[in-house]
Amino acid sequence: MKVKLLEPNWNSGVSIVNLPHSELIARGILCLLLDVDGTLLPRTDHKISIPVKNWIHTAKSYFRIHLISNNPSKNRIKKIAEQLNLSYSYKASKPSRKELIGFINKTGEKKETLAIIGDRIFTDILAGNRLGIYTILVKPTNSDGFANLNSKVQNFEIKLSLLMGALKK
Ligand SMILES: [Mg+2]
Repeated sequence: MKVKLLEPNWNSGVSIVNLPHSELIARGILCLLLDVDGTLLPRTDHKISIPVKNWIHTAKSYFRIHLISNNPSKNRIKKIAEQLNLSYSYKASKPSRKELIGFINKTGEKKETLAIIGDRIFTDILAGNRLGIYTILVKPTNSDGFANLNSKVQNFEIKLSLLMGALKK
């Protein structure tokens, strides 16, 4: 595996609610693929926080949005998608590109104007980079919608990627 494939195009250092929509617009992004667990809410939560809802609400006026989760529970992802009134894929098996390609084929979205936003380097970022779409790494989100800076999983992945030379300090 090429280590470059682990490097997000944008290592934002913030959670999704602090990603400026204007920055995405300026980069020519028209469509967002969003990871769910960790990115929109903690894995064990069921309700989307108000800050995340607000961010999505504003984002909807600029971008087409689709949820793409590795979670095998259709019930969970469906309920979350309903809270946000968004389309979704579950059991996506990222870093496999299969679901992403399926989405592109179904919707006709262009790779050049597509971005994936997620909290995991070895699933979300790797899947997006393998497909050649714009990749954004965010900090995991807490129940209140704001960043969890002490995520053991993300800190481990960042350390590993640094060791592999995929990320710059
Ligand atoms: Mg995640």
